[in-house]
Amino acid sequence: MTIHNLGYPRIGDFRELKFALEAYWKGEKTLTDLEAQAREIRYKNFQTQIAAGIELIPVNDFAYYDQCLNMSTLLGVIPKRFRQDEYDIDIAFRMARGRAPSDDGIGCDEGHLCESRAGFAGAMKKWFDTNYHYIVPELYDDTEFKITDTRLFNEVAEALALKQDGNIDFKPVLIGPVTYLYLAENVGNAIPKLSRLPELLAVYLQILQKLADQGIRWVQVDEPILGLELNAEWQNAFTTAYEALSKIQVKLLVATYFETLGDNLDLACELPVAGLHYDAVRGEKQLACLVEQYPAHKVLSIGLVEGRNIWKTDITAALKQLADAKAKFANNLWIAPSCSLLHVPVNLDVEQKLDPELKNYLSFAKQKLDEVKLLADALNGKPDEKALADNAKAITDKKASKLVHNAAVQARIAKLDETALNRPAPYKERAALQKAKFKLPLFPTTTIGSFPQTAEIRQTRLKFKKGDISEAQYIEAMQAEIRDVCARQERIGIDVFVHGEPERNDMVEYFGEQLKGYAFTQFGWVQSYGSRCVKPPIIYGDVSREKPMTVFWSQYAQSQTAKPMKGMLSGAVTMLNWSFVRNDQPREQTCNQIALALRDEVLDLEAAGIHMIQIDEAALREGLPLKKSDWEDYLRWAVKSFHITTSGVANDTQIHTHMCYSEFNDIIESVAAMDADCITIETSKSNMKLLDAFVDFEYPNEIGPGVYDIHSPNIPTVEQMIGLIEKAAKLIPAERLWVNPDCGLKTRGWKETEPALTNMVQAAKKLRKQIA
Ligand code: GLN
Ligand code: ZN
Repeated sequence: MTIHNLGYPRIGDFRELKFALEAYWKGEKTLTDLEAQAREIRYKNFQTQIAAGIELIPVNDFAYYDQCLNMSTLLGVIPKRFRQDEYDIDIAFRMARGRAPSDDGIGCDEGHLCESRAGFAGAMKKWFDTNYHYIVPELYDDTEFKITDTRLFNEVAEALALKQDGNIDFKPVLIGPVTYLYLAENVGNAIPKLSRLPELLAVYLQILQKLADQGIRWVQVDEPILGLELNAEWQNAFTTAYEALSKIQVKLLVATYFETLGDNLDLACELPVAGLHYDAVRGEKQLACLVEQYPAHKVLSIGLVEGRNIWKTDITAALKQLADAKAKFANNLWIAPSCSLLHVPVNLDVEQKLDPELKNYLSFAKQKLDEVKLLADALNGKPDEKALADNAKAITDKKASKLVHNAAVQARIAKLDETALNRPAPYKERAALQKAKFKLPLFPTTTIGSFPQTAEIRQTRLKFKKGDISEAQYIEAMQAEIRDVCARQERIGIDVFVHGEPERNDMVEYFGEQLKGYAFTQFGWVQSYGSRCVKPPIIYGDVSREKPMTVFWSQYAQSQTAKPMKGMLSGAVTMLNWSFVRNDQPREQTCNQIALALRDEVLDLEAAGIHMIQIDEAALREGLPLKKSDWEDYLRWAVKSFHITTSGVANDTQIHTHMCYSEFNDIIESVAAMDADCITIETSKSNMKLLDAFVDFEYPNEIGPGVYDIHSPNIPTVEQMIGLIEKAAKLIPAERLWVNPDCGLKTRGWKETEPALTNMVQAAKKLRKQIA
């Protein structure tokens, strides 16, 4: 039996890669420095995996920016705007960021999505249902596949040099040809994507041959789209592809993860390859079928150590789940994590501030390797009894833990009458009452919540956290900030105010820190894209609110103005989707608990005189399951959680929601079912084109399609914004239209924010006149 790994985090224990990259991009470090840091991380990762007893270790799981970009440069899929005579790493950085250090000072600091000498960066998309973003490959009619970047072969040589004894070997990881093509965007259009498969396969064959020549025996070919619902054309592409690739001596392990195989089960079992890796955590319900159907003379790799979450594996349960596979496959059964460990933090050992009880329930990438080894040893008849007993004890302790389970929260959830979760009156009646109460003009203007987070604000928060200033000093500084943004909104002439969120570092962390059942790590970073990492909170237990979280600030803000002040909360689904979530109860249940805590906050805000309350559901769409047939259930409980949060308020209290995207076509009915009085969405980037969803479906309530893109420092003109509002007014009656930016303004400066909002208010005023 072989113990292997599919991928290890490349950021380093303390984000060393991030700092090295950013220093290189800023011109503070040379390429040689960057390469040395990268080599050190790879070396350390190899050593960590060897020490843990991993026998087949991944190579090419390292990337300076992104593994999909690695494939593009390897295959020569480099858009013309970046091409030059000889390939170098700066080309990859331009493809990812629109610029490289040698493009001195052109483009914006953020680097992404901006024009530069080299051309605009490639688009980023989420890697399946993770929070990792890849650079979308662009296929033009003149794209020619050709081995271009030799980094893969160098890293393979570097790894093979470490192979001192016979027990370890290295396994390069590639994104499979079918998944690669599926994820690529066809920009040229003249050549259908799938008709490029033969040319693409020819280059994959060359790559595999080179690897074979280097002495490689196994290659892992990631084909996660096997977890999607594929049509016959894409299914056939798999057969074509792997028949072609079977010509090479090197053995292929096709890896699928994040989902069951569904209807692709037969296909996966019949692929002419040496082995298959299967994610038995996400794919638990199809494991038995797969074990029965997969040919015993081939390798079946099973992942029961979850690469997507931070909980200790229940080794006893996993051993039971593996019994049949062990009996059938014997040494052809391989053991691995469920997917690449890229999606979990690196090392639990470095955490010093976690509650020791909670820490004992957790496992990060490094610890997951030990779990894989523990599991495999036990299957091999060489159980580490002490470690198994410790594992079993942690699992039993957690089930009975007072830290995790809170009877009061559970009783409250049990009592929840799910049939009584609607607002008392339908929207039309509410709208009439709200109109009389707020007396807003046509095209009311507002913003999404945050205002520019100046260095000063950040510093004050930091000083307070460190204890350098007193609570009273902190409060005074934040209140001064709130007074300032109120004065500015007054001056600009905005109709509905916000307090600006100066007290919030992050829209999830701010609430998570105040809720019970949430924990935060010191170093639990996970790569999001390029050098950007996020530190998702951990929801470990029943969630409850001890005291109001936002009322103090909102109430103070309301006291500064006669205009309505919007209360501002992050929604339950977003809180859930941006956290590591407990795995001992359905996500729906955890979501309901957060929603109930937020419901209390909503009611407290209302009682404190805040009669417009916005609940942000920025991440609702990204939580959609990978298989479309699972969408309905997710959307059902997502909508329900919004109702739990909002249904307690009076008819004349106005509920808003905000979503940071505009692809609504396939979820518009659920969004309407949330029944927010007003929704603000992103639309300006696509020129309102994305309001398409509203052509066939009449969104019944009020809506604020963003009229300017907050990601850009550009100041939109009055005319531009009038143009956009007029476009929107063709689809949505003017009485139900709001005027606002795309999203929160916290990443912007006041220099551009004030003139942009001034123009926005002018645009609304002009339109009001026109209509009158
Ligand atoms: N209210 C938040 C803000 O304005 C919303 C952020 C978001 O949608 N991502 O910053
Ligand atoms: Zn947003």
